[in-house]
Amino acid sequence: MTEPLVLPDSPSREERLAALREARVVLVSACLVGEACRFDGRSKGSGRVMAALEGKEVVPVCPEVGSGLPVPRPPVELSGGTGVDVWAGRARALEREAGVDRTDAFLRGARLALEAARTFGATVALLKEKSPSCGTQHVYEAGKLRPGEGITAALLRSEGITVLSDEDL
Ligand code: SF4
Repeated sequence: MTEPLVLPDSPSREERLAALREARVVLVSACLVGEACRFDGRSKGSGRVMAALEGKEVVPVCPEVGSGLPVPRPPVELSGGTGVDVWAGRARALEREAGVDRTDAFLRGARLALEAARTFGATVALLKEKSPSCGTQHVYEAGKLRPGEGITAALLRSEGITVLSDEDL
């Protein structure tokens, strides 16, 4: 079951970076801190991310693996819209090649990420850009990169968490 999200205006990049600087607890895409949880079995560990997180409490989450999807796994793209459209029930998350519908797993993973943010008091989420779960400014839809956010990023932002990406750093 999904229901439409109410999203606040997106803060500017400067405002997002300021929120990150001030945050004590940060939810982070696990692949950005070295966990090999991506669909291709690799990580996206980044020195810039590690530097930005220095001195903070870090809550690494991978919504897709958290939902029970394996590593590696077939790549997924959004179809019919971006993350906010998935929550509104008018778009889906489909495997790029076979078209298998993974929407329910992606929704479950997003809810788990929100639960982790609440449990640990994270006010900011630093996420991997362009992912169908974690993308914050751009995601792939039907083979094309387009403005919009992923399923997890949209849910976190609707719950008042400031969301930014590795590409903001
Ligand atoms: S981008 Fe998000 S969903 Fe994808 S591997 Fe990284 S943490 Fe997991």
